[in-house]
Amino acid sequence: MPDNLSMSVQYLKSVGPKRAESFSKIGINTIKDLLFYFPSRYLDRSTILNCVKVVQHVVNGYIGEVTIVGEVIDSEIHYYNRKQVFKVRMKDQSGFFDLVWFHGAKYFKDVFNPGNHFAVSAKPVLTKYGHIQFVHPDFDRLAESESKDFLNTGRIIPFYRVQKELRESNLGDLSLRRIINQAAETYSSKLAESLPDSIIKKNNLMGIIETVQTLHSPKDYISLEIARTRLKFEELFYFESLVAMRKQIFKEKKKGFSFVTKPEPLRKFLKTLPFELTEAQLKVLSEIRKDLESERPMNRLLQGDVGSGKTIVALISMLIVVENNFQAVLMAPTEILADQHFKRISELVAPLGLKVDELIGGQKKSERDIILKRIAEGKTDIVIGTHALIQDNVNFHKLGLTVIDEQHRFGVMQRSNLVEKGLQSDVLIMTATPIPRTLTMTIYGDLDISVIDQMPKNRKPIKTILRGEKKLPDIYEFIRSKSKDGYQTFLVYPLVEESEKIELKAAQSYFEELCRDQLSDLRLCLIHGRMKWQEKEKIMFDFADKKYDVLVSTTVIEVGIDIPDANIIVINDAFRFGLSQLHQLRGRVGRSQKQAYCILVSSDAHAVKSNQFNFNFDYLSPEQIERNKSLIRLNAMVKHTSGFELAEIDMKLRGPGNIFGTQQSGLPELKYANIIEDTELLISARAVAFEIIEKDPTLNLAENSLIKNILRENYYQHLQLSRIA
Ligand code: ADP
Ligand code: MG
Repeated sequence: MPDNLSMSVQYLKSVGPKRAESFSKIGINTIKDLLFYFPSRYLDRSTILNCVKVVQHVVNGYIGEVTIVGEVIDSEIHYYNRKQVFKVRMKDQSGFFDLVWFHGAKYFKDVFNPGNHFAVSAKPVLTKYGHIQFVHPDFDRLAESESKDFLNTGRIIPFYRVQKELRESNLGDLSLRRIINQAAETYSSKLAESLPDSIIKKNNLMGIIETVQTLHSPKDYISLEIARTRLKFEELFYFESLVAMRKQIFKEKKKGFSFVTKPEPLRKFLKTLPFELTEAQLKVLSEIRKDLESERPMNRLLQGDVGSGKTIVALISMLIVVENNFQAVLMAPTEILADQHFKRISELVAPLGLKVDELIGGQKKSERDIILKRIAEGKTDIVIGTHALIQDNVNFHKLGLTVIDEQHRFGVMQRSNLVEKGLQSDVLIMTATPIPRTLTMTIYGDLDISVIDQMPKNRKPIKTILRGEKKLPDIYEFIRSKSKDGYQTFLVYPLVEESEKIELKAAQSYFEELCRDQLSDLRLCLIHGRMKWQEKEKIMFDFADKKYDVLVSTTVIEVGIDIPDANIIVINDAFRFGLSQLHQLRGRVGRSQKQAYCILVSSDAHAVKSNQFNFNFDYLSPEQIERNKSLIRLNAMVKHTSGFELAEIDMKLRGPGNIFGTQQSGLPELKYANIIEDTELLISARAVAFEIIEKDPTLNLAENSLIKNILRENYYQHLQLSRIA
């Protein structure tokens, strides 16, 4: 006989095989799973108004959302200007009110049956007859007993999300609530505690049984908050335990080289550069140097806005290692970038007599074999290539440093792959994405962080403007006149998600039209997404050699590409791009002393609206933000040049998970806690987790056996980077 909690939900009253199947579709199989399906929100009496109160509020100028609980009297379908209007008449103890829909009458007719009770929320409208109306309100059905209970005793009512899969087997608000309530009453007392007692006591947490019971039927808001805190703490604790174990693994797996910095060759090298390093670059270099010199293996994240000069910092770090007779490797996300790095770096280190090799797609096997052999024999000092090729099958003679030029994607998984393959060197990951501190701490908590927070001195801020399509002739004129002064221009057309053929045709026709008409007196070249990288690269280099004035591109110009004389970028249909993409694109220009320009082009109406749109997140509702996302993005681009500010705006538009690639981090998704909002809780859970893992990395002590079991049970797929897998 299995313990009851692991029994299928099928055996619960009013579930049965068909509904059990629906539950299974949303990941609920056992009774225990169901106990952890928590309400998405609650209704309590303090948030409810009666009809008369609502009228008073509206008369006094209140325009926010309100909730009323009432009973359906009747409903009818009207026709108004030949359009269907569905109206429900409702009453509460104080009076009558209406609900109105302008579509879906058929569906709502079956929902609002006379005698049914509902909680209804929306912004109230006062009709000319002094009557309250809700247009397209949110609503939740209540049982009559619930509604009475609720109004008389002030109970808090939980609402569960009724997902599509559940509706398919006729589960609605009421039935789901009943089923879960019953399960909670009967089975929650059998739940086993999932945090060690000592942690619960020390942190004043609620026990798991009480937590689950409270979340399903809270006595009051205070206990609800305490229950939520317990749940979040537990989640963050196990999450941070995983981070702590990763940190341990990276620490242990390596013997740890300690390199010696030889100042003379470095000084000589710095003299050959056409510029001086910025203070920020120097500061970061000294942080890296300390890591290299120490026995502790380096795991450092180097953050710096687009164009802040990360590459040179990486190169100098590699030189330190190479001077110690070790090898260094630089991995880039694309072939073009790898090749650009290879050409630049080869030139820069030529005077030092170092051997640089390249591993990149499209090389002949024979050629590749020779390079691999050189690397294995230690004849190569610096290897540059794409992530994929280097991870595949390269045998290094004596690898000292791995640099991952990740741009805006995250190199954490790459790094784990490296460790698994036994490529254990110091690691430096470079990114242009600014990440809030709490986030780096949580997700990349095993990395140290350096920031280049300053641009090279010779840079002028890029002038960004937003124009409607009507202005295109002026824009072409501007490109033409600037090209006389040696300016080069990127002209970007986003052709997203079109088929291969259509994209190719559209790209060519744009290009031909520009060559024939608008820009016929300039030298144009074209790059599109269907070209091989070698073709793209040839054009890119010819462009860099000033063989062309304008580069027309249908894909995003390779991230990281560095062409100092290109100082104008025109982005057509700019509303189609995300904020970080726009910032990356803009970062292709403004890499020299000359004034650079970024011209965003959108439809005329859109451009006018966006230029007038003065957004302030404090005053915008989530719906307003949702509706005006593209206006906000373009507006933000015009106003801000710093990647950090833009990233914050982006985070508000999209939520943290999407930007920072939490999926790529290989850590579990957080269901209850929010990294940005629950910072304090996170910090305390993290401290507890780190203390335990540092003392007992393999969780072998008896007092930690519960933690170990829970990790194995619930986080099995996230344990690759731990020693308890
Ligand atoms: P990113 O940080 O975006 O990778 P890069 O490393 O490609 O930026 O550098 C952008 C440009 O700035 C390059 O042309 C590089 O030579 C130049 N650069 C780097 N450091 C400095 C500096 N201290 N002063 C002037 N120019 C610099
Ligand atoms: Mg770069």
